[in-house]
Amino acid sequence: MKSRLPLKVLLAAPRSFCAGVTRAIQIVEACLEHYGAPVYVRHAIVHNEHVLREMEAKGVIFVEELSEVPDGVPVVFSAHGVPPSVVRSAEERGLPTIDATCPLVARVHQEAMRHHRSGCQVLVIGKKNHPEILGLLGYLPAKECQVIGDIEAAKNVQISMNQPVAYVTQTTLSVEDTGQIVKVLRKRFPKLIEPRTETICYATANRQKATRAIAAKTEAFLVLGSPTSSNSSRLTEVARQVGCEKVRLVPEPDELNLRWLDDVSVLGLTAGASAPEYLVQQLIDRLAQSRSLVIEEVSVTEEKIHFRLPIKRFPKTSQISISRSPTKSQHRQEGLYRNKHIALSQELHLA
Ligand code: SF4
Repeated sequence: MKSRLPLKVLLAAPRSFCAGVTRAIQIVEACLEHYGAPVYVRHAIVHNEHVLREMEAKGVIFVEELSEVPDGVPVVFSAHGVPPSVVRSAEERGLPTIDATCPLVARVHQEAMRHHRSGCQVLVIGKKNHPEILGLLGYLPAKECQVIGDIEAAKNVQISMNQPVAYVTQTTLSVEDTGQIVKVLRKRFPKLIEPRTETICYATANRQKATRAIAAKTEAFLVLGSPTSSNSSRLTEVARQVGCEKVRLVPEPDELNLRWLDDVSVLGLTAGASAPEYLVQQLIDRLAQSRSLVIEEVSVTEEKIHFRLPIKRFPKTSQISISRSPTKSQHRQEGLYRNKHIALSQELHLA
């Protein structure tokens, strides 16, 4: 029998679902339980095709505009947030609404409005057409904010004389790239007002940190996640930035051609904040069919962050769990995992 070639897998931790994605999925699950199917969701609840297809199979209908929602039917707003105009239109039509906006996205809305109320021009660092930015811009008058997509935009942005300048960011940007943009803005506007708390979220920062910690030591790096996921795409960029030349974003485990790993003996693996952990385990199972795996989990921090469901809305379902919880890895059972923790745990307390 032909022996399988060894493959060392450096598995990044934290990876997969963040607290905001978990909460958004739980809200939709709770709506299905509470109202029954179909449940309408405005925009993809989270940016992962696999999650969306599973929800559709349970009776969830995703739409881009409220006009596609029939009268009298409840509608969920996605984790990325919506502009207030959408909330108003739903109210005018008498649609019951359930807001699954991540509390950390909502915190950026608050921060931006606070700056606007104090008379600042608000610079919004982010991707112009991303739903999170479209939602955020809805809170600010168009002439009082500008989107800064890259360093060039930061160099060229014009502000009226004497107006104070503040910035906020999309939650899922590259920490490094955003740092470069902020550096330019600080130089141009020495009195630049910074956010009170970091507006790139903990989950984005942690997944990038874990990728940064291992990608340079690997010959190839895989990120499980959808191309629509900003968080996942940024992880591929981080892996390349630290020197890994062979990097791929993989939406589904069976989309990976295993021949791609023929010349690889050390592989890095992670998943974006909207990609379920069971996809990681399925990919590992696939790899194990052709290679003899040694898995080392490299953890840069331990996340203990949870967001509560809107209790008033779902008094009896606040403890509902996601229907497909992460599979218990056979590899863990077989003792193939080795854990390496290189930082302390962190906690965040948000209602
Ligand atoms: S990536 Fe961050 S901001 Fe987005 S849903 Fe997750 S925790 Fe919230």
